[in-house]
Amino acid sequence: MPRMHAMVLDRPRTLLVMRERPVPRPGPGEVLVEVKACGVCRTDLHVVDGELPDPKMPIVPGHEIVGRIAAIGEGVSALAVGARVGIPWLGWTCGACSYCRSGRENLCDRPLFTGYTRDGGFATHALADARYCFALPHAADDAGVAPWLCAGLIGWRSYRMAGEGERLGIYGFGAAAHLLVQVAVWQGRKIYAFTRPGDTAAQRFARNLGANWAGGSDEAPPEPLDAAIIFAPIGALVPAALKAVKKGGRVVCGGILTREDAREFLDVAPRARLRSEITRYPLAKANEALSDLRGGRLQGAAVLVP
Ligand SMILES: [Zn+2]
Ligand SMILES: [Zn+2]
Repeated sequence: MPRMHAMVLDRPRTLLVMRERPVPRPGPGEVLVEVKACGVCRTDLHVVDGELPDPKMPIVPGHEIVGRIAAIGEGVSALAVGARVGIPWLGWTCGACSYCRSGRENLCDRPLFTGYTRDGGFATHALADARYCFALPHAADDAGVAPWLCAGLIGWRSYRMAGEGERLGIYGFGAAAHLLVQVAVWQGRKIYAFTRPGDTAAQRFARNLGANWAGGSDEAPPEPLDAAIIFAPIGALVPAALKAVKKGGRVVCGGILTREDAREFLDVAPRARLRSEITRYPLAKANEALSDLRGGRLQGAAVLVP
């Protein structure tokens, strides 16, 4: 029987351990993906650190999966063996609750999340529900596309919710922001990037990506903003952002997205010639990637490559 490798979390707040397992067979409606790259996201840290309720344990983290379909289960017709797909955080929804039935599956009462309540992509192979996989454009390499699947999508949803205003503030300049800025600049928006006070490297990074202005989150922007998006999970940024936007302006906090958001974003991203700033790690170095992310030692995104 063919074997696979996975980085497994047995208990919260422990290191991931490399395990060998038989390659699983896809069940009805599922696909088996050979993982080519998997991004490492702040949410993976929350899973590993036990900060999210009721995770599946043991769990294989990772929800920014780029892979090729290696096998398809019964009833899967939309995807074929060999196709390049992306697998994001939202791994399954019930289709029956009031949220699912009103087009808000991102709020489903009984969802499954990749790398949290079902095994994810810190592995050589992963199973996924075919309906939650996305065909990926061929515009960038596998590792470069991986961060699009969470950071990129979350940025996109927040961006859409921020409205059409020209001047857009972004608080927290990490993986999501660095992708979003490129799309926003491509669409002719003016970006004001707010970083940790004194983080001149991040401010330079933001300006290099096309931001009009970059400064500390304790500074006022040079002109009032039409809207602001907060990516950093810091409550004190909300009043700061509210002060920076003009009367009637919007402040949006990042959140979970729907498949519709994903389809839109995956259509726009290659047209905007989106480039991810990434640091590659071999799969076996997943713990190192997590610790670099935790310690703020990364610019852009960490990506595991099996
Ligand atoms: Zn994520
Ligand atoms: Zn539901």
